[in-house]
Amino acid sequence: MAVPNLTSILKRILKAPTAPFHEYHVRAEIEALLKDCPNVKLKRDKFGNLMATYKSGKSKSSPTWVLGAHMDHPAFVKKPNSKKSEWDFLGGVPQDLVDAGVKRGLRSKPTGAIATWNFPTQISFEKIEATACDDLIGCAVIVATFWELASLNLSTTCHAVFTRAEEVGFLGAWHLAQKWPFGKNDVFLSIETSRPVNGAVMGSGPVVRVGDRMSVFDSEGVAVLMTTAKEQGIRVQRCLLDAGACEATAVQAAGYRAVGVSVPLGNYHNLDANKEIAPEYVMMNDVRSLIDLLKALVATKHDGIGERTIRERVEVRMEEYGPHLKAAAKLFK
Ligand SMILES: [Zn+2]
Repeated sequence: MAVPNLTSILKRILKAPTAPFHEYHVRAEIEALLKDCPNVKLKRDKFGNLMATYKSGKSKSSPTWVLGAHMDHPAFVKKPNSKKSEWDFLGGVPQDLVDAGVKRGLRSKPTGAIATWNFPTQISFEKIEATACDDLIGCAVIVATFWELASLNLSTTCHAVFTRAEEVGFLGAWHLAQKWPFGKNDVFLSIETSRPVNGAVMGSGPVVRVGDRMSVFDSEGVAVLMTTAKEQGIRVQRCLLDAGACEATAVQAAGYRAVGVSVPLGNYHNLDANKEIAPEYVMMNDVRSLIDLLKALVATKHDGIGERTIRERVEVRMEEYGPHLKAAAKLFK
């Protein structure tokens, strides 16, 4: 079987036009890419989210991970129930900036009920540029990770979800979390692209998010991500990315453990430094490092291996400093 390489996976997914509620082209591409992937089973839920499970052998990572990426991106959609061709722009971009982009002729010819910004997909060793890196890069990263697990026939179980309608308020992720077809203790890992803020830099590795604009994430989950990166020598950044919110917030609010990793994104939501409509871009080395991190993550157990729990650390210190504690205690009156 022909194993698709990262460039071909990126190309196929990034070229699919998408918009909130209109993710069928992207979903079809992901299904086509994964349908012959060994050890992977696909399923759709009632909302139209796509779910994939990789399972080989009996071993499991600890925790079991549910990787998530969204299939939509801010774009134009046909106004529902209107006879004329009228368009709504869905997703977080100020209307005046959208209008200025249309005026400059940057809106594509419609593909059925969708129109997008019209930029070519350009992939080099260094950089990936496209209309919708957010979050088609996340989708491509998960597909590439599953193919790498399969080519190594790695023994583990890992889930993934490709969701709908994130840009209009996590609708797909919320539906998923209400049904939660996974284990109660499985941890959701949002795979996003995000504007680098609070010290995060493009090209310095994927960002392990301690939180987003709305929530702080699972502390132990963040620690497992950081430990895995350190053990594997993968360069990551650990930051609060609070310029936007991600699906980890929705899943966590529904009562499940959740964390997030982001590829630093240039021209977030197609706005450049001058607030003009432009292609989004990410750095190739950040994308590759994220795939390496995910592979390592789903292949290892983390029951405090190589790391003491906080309780253990404090107990060791208590013993080490026992004589000091005792000596000083006498001086408290
Ligand atoms: Zn996003």
